[in-house]
Amino acid sequence: PGGYKTEGSLTLGDIFIAVKTTKRFHQSRMELLLDTWISRAREQTYVFTDEEDDALKRRMGDHAIFTNCSAEHSHPALSCKMAAEFDAFLASSRSWFCHLDDDNYLNPQALLKLLSSYSATWDVYLGKPSLNRPIWASEMLPNNQTKSVHFWFATGGAGFCISRKLASKMVPWASGRNFLSTSELIRLPDDCTVGYIIECKVGGQLLPNALFHSHLENLQLIPPSRLTQQVTLSYGVFENKLNVIELSGPFSPQEDPSRFRSLHCHLYPDTSWCLQTVGW
Ligand code: UDP
Ligand code: MN
Repeated sequence: PGGYKTEGSLTLGDIFIAVKTTKRFHQSRMELLLDTWISRAREQTYVFTDEEDDALKRRMGDHAIFTNCSAEHSHPALSCKMAAEFDAFLASSRSWFCHLDDDNYLNPQALLKLLSSYSATWDVYLGKPSLNRPIWASEMLPNNQTKSVHFWFATGGAGFCISRKLASKMVPWASGRNFLSTSELIRLPDDCTVGYIIECKVGGQLLPNALFHSHLENLQLIPPSRLTQQVTLSYGVFENKLNVIELSGPFSPQEDPSRFRSLHCHLYPDTSWCLQTVGW
């Protein structure tokens, strides 16, 4: 008999989804996400940005979080946002933390299916490895010396997820101002810092997962028939060319350059602005 939650079954409400954005992308990127996947995951999605914006507040209410982080692409500014995301998750009672960029399409049902095969009471760090080998970095030591360290990390541009159990172990390095000081120890971007904390400080491990995608891979290589199973997708520039998923419609590339609106209509054909199409 369906209809009620069985012990241990995961629901979307157990997931905290953080989207990182910045003032200049509120219109060009956030509107698209709000019209598409966020409309299907409203209750668990929070947007972290750097400037007050009434239009964003109107659409997201208290799920639009205005951090005091500066609107720069610098390591400290981005680490400040990651720390805000992490702290908001810790303050929530949800069991999974997932981070996304504002050029990601998230399929909530595919995410739920994936996380259901793990337990938030284990140490879990899931995402797409940024490189095909561990990254090497110099860790600053208190006596002005450095130590060579290596670790895997999930590329932030493809999205990644962390279980509550692992997140709670990360607190001494990742919460509040600690995230920024930790990122200064290795002088690398926020997503590298997350991997460094997990693999070098906590003793956890990245579980590579092929369902997360950034625009730093050729998105045309994903077979159209597999698109609806992917957890995250993206769009952007790769090797000086526009890099988007391969999808014929219902919208033309002119109407829908990112292809996210077309993808959304394949996943949710009952959406009011989707042209009624049958199959692919
Ligand atoms: N971003 C930000 N502050 C900035 C620039 C970018 O918070 O000053 C965010 C942006 O909204 C996105 C992520 O950082 O979520 C990555 O930015 P983008 O896609 O422009 O760059 P990429 O690293 O993918 O080339
Ligand atoms: Mn990007």
